[in-house]
Amino acid sequence: MNEAQQDLIRRHLELIIEANKTTNLTRIDSLEDGMLLHVEDSLSGLPEINAAPEGLYGDLGTGGGFPGIPLAIVTGRETILADSVGKKTRVLDGVIQELGLRNQVTTYHGRIEDLSRDHRFSFSVLTARALSKLSILMELASPCLKMGGHLICYKANVSEEEMEHALGLQKKLGMALESDRSFVLSDGVTNRRIIVFKKVAKPKLSLPRQVGFAQKKPL
Ligand code: SAH
Repeated sequence: MNEAQQDLIRRHLELIIEANKTTNLTRIDSLEDGMLLHVEDSLSGLPEINAAPEGLYGDLGTGGGFPGIPLAIVTGRETILADSVGKKTRVLDGVIQELGLRNQVTTYHGRIEDLSRDHRFSFSVLTARALSKLSILMELASPCLKMGGHLICYKANVSEEEMEHALGLQKKLGMALESDRSFVLSDGVTNRRIIVFKKVAKPKLSLPRQVGFAQKKPL
């Protein structure tokens, strides 16, 4: 990562902390905490995004643009930041403009179920942080991904039950576990786990299901 990229990433965080005074984007309100829990955490998935096939990148449930904006800046990938809350995507439109990223990064205001209709089988790589359980992420991601595309799930804690459930749905959703890595952030105490699934086959059911079903009536 070069100095210009570091400056852009820091500026994104500053703009989000500022916007957070009027729009609810994050619980984190200091630059110091944000550098760890947003910036460092977002960038911790770099090995995983670099291992995905080249091409379009999407951040599902992006909120204040984490991990989407830092990863877009460092990878240079064409990027879509998706969130169902319009005031969040509007804040991000301003950030993208201010950082000079308009040729590379766009927002999508809408639900992931709609994104998967508008950009069907289009993404080479997706990320999701603090959004849903693994099985729900797999269901939402599958119709967005190209064959061979990767879903990168940023997790804090994953129960044995959540993992087992996700693994049990792999065949049905056409997704297969690709990698699983646990680590600690630089504060020495914050545990993280990054789990990657790869799109390997056509799902066995028609996706997306009706809007809201993935989250309200989980498989
Ligand atoms: N990824 C960010 C925000 C996490 S909060 C971070 O880690 O800081 C989850 C975000 O997902 C919220 O902004 C919420 O509006 C969005 N969201 C939840 N369900 C969604 C759906 N079905 N489609 C699109 N966005 C969704």
